[in-house]
Amino acid sequence: MEELVVTIVNYLMTGPEYQTFCKCEKCRKDIIALSLNTLPNHYVTTAEGRERIIEQLNTTENRKWINKRIISAIHVVGKYPQHQ
Ligand SMILES: [Zn+2]
Repeated sequence: MEELVVTIVNYLMTGPEYQTFCKCEKCRKDIIALSLNTLPNHYVTTAEGRERIIEQLNTTENRKWINKRIISAIHVVGKYPQHQ
């Protein structure tokens, strides 16, 4: 899940929609942490396990749901950044 969230956060932050949001390392990490707190963990120990989970999570329905949580995390961090 963390891998997926990092990829999506990096992707979203480069988009025109989030141009006005701070993209520093601190905010990016806060967004990732906040998103992960609201998403279930999927720990895996093998490469096959990882493939299976990614396949499971990578459906249109799940991506929509994951994106929604990440977007709300971007807005929370954008509104209350943990730095000046
Ligand atoms: Zn920042």
